[in-house]
Amino acid sequence: MRPIKARISIGAMAHNLRVARSHAGAARVFAVIKANAYGHGLSRARRALAATDGFAVLTLEEAANLRLMGVEQPILLLEGMFGADEIATCAELDLWPVLHHAAQLDWLQHQPPSRPIRVFLKFDSGMHRLGFPLAEHAAIVARVQSLPGVAGVTLMTHFAQADEGAGVDWQLQPFLREMGSHHLPWSSANSAALLRYPETLGAWVRPGLVLYGASPFTDTTAEHLGLRPAMTLLSEIISVQTLQAGEGVGYGQMFRADRTMRVGVVACGYADGYPRHALTGTPVLVNGRLSRTLGRVSMDMLCVDLSECADAGVGSPVVLWGEGLPVDAVAAAAGTSSYELLCALAARVPVDETE
Ligand SMILES: *Cc1c(COP(=O)(O)O)cnc(C)c1O
Repeated sequence: MRPIKARISIGAMAHNLRVARSHAGAARVFAVIKANAYGHGLSRARRALAATDGFAVLTLEEAANLRLMGVEQPILLLEGMFGADEIATCAELDLWPVLHHAAQLDWLQHQPPSRPIRVFLKFDSGMHRLGFPLAEHAAIVARVQSLPGVAGVTLMTHFAQADEGAGVDWQLQPFLREMGSHHLPWSSANSAALLRYPETLGAWVRPGLVLYGASPFTDTTAEHLGLRPAMTLLSEIISVQTLQAGEGVGYGQMFRADRTMRVGVVACGYADGYPRHALTGTPVLVNGRLSRTLGRVSMDMLCVDLSECADAGVGSPVVLWGEGLPVDAVAAAAGTSSYELLCALAARVPVDETE
C-alpha cells in the first residue's frame, strides 16, 4: 500500500476544546467545523468535540448530517440560508441561521417557518465581506424582531485582523457602541480574538483553527498556546537518488546540487494536499530529524535532503506536518496558512484515527 496517511487524534481535539474553553469565561462555545472540520472529518470532530455548547457549519447538508449523527446542541449556519427553500429545514432541524443580507429577511417574511427560529444577525464592522452596515442597525434589528418567524436574535460580527498587530479594537468599539442600545446577546470572537482579546467574548465564541491545534498568530506557536496538533501527515521514502554537483532534481530542475548528495523521494505530492508552491527549504522530518524539501513538489511525490540523514533509506518515516513539526512552520515556509494546508488534505489520503 502507498505509505502516506493522516493520523488524526481525537484526544488532541478534545484537549484543544478545553484550552479554548479556558479562555471563554462565561461565553458559550460554538466549535467551528466547516470545511469537513478543517480537513479532520465531520463525524470525527463531532465525537472529539462532543463537550462543546454548539457547532458552527456552512451548509444545510453539514447541519443535517450532524442531526443524523445525534447532535442535540445548537447548530449555527455561518452564512445562513442560501435560498428561501432552506427555511423549512432550519425550523425542522432547529438550526440557527446567520442573517446577513436583506433578501434573507424577505424570504423569512414571505415564507415564515413552521415555528419561529432563533437567528444570528450579522453586522459588518469593517471587514466588508458579509453583514448589514452598522449604520443601519436600528432599522434592521427592529425589522428582524418584528418578524413572526423569528424567536430570538443574537448580534454578530467578524474580525478581519484579530491575528495581526492591528487587532480588533477598530471593529469591536464601533460594533459595541452601536449595538449597546439593543440589550441583546452578541458574538464576535474567532480563535485569535478568543485567545488574545477577552473583551470580545460576548455570549458565544466561535473558535475553529485552535481546535485543530494550529496557532492563528505568526508570533506565537501552537505549543506556546498549550495546543496539540490534531492532524499528522505521514509518509515514507520510496526511492533514494544520489546527485552529483551540478545535477538537478524534479520538474524544472529547480534545485541543483553543489556537491555530491543523497536525495530521498517521498510518497506525498500536491494531489495529497501538500502545497505545490512550497519551495526548496520547506521543513520536513525524516527519521525524526529536521530536514528540508528540494525542488518542485510533484503530483504524487516530493524530494527531501538526506545530507544529514545518513541512516535514512527506502521505508524511512517522513512527517510532513503534525507531531514534531508544526503545520504552522510548514505553512509559513510555503507562503500559506495552516488553515489552507489542513483543509486541503485530499480525500485519497487514508486516515488513521487515534485516541
Ligand atoms: C470560520 C469562521 C470562524 C472560525 O475562525 P477561526 O479563525 O478558524 O477560529 C469564526 N467565525 C466565522 C464567521 C467563520 O466563518
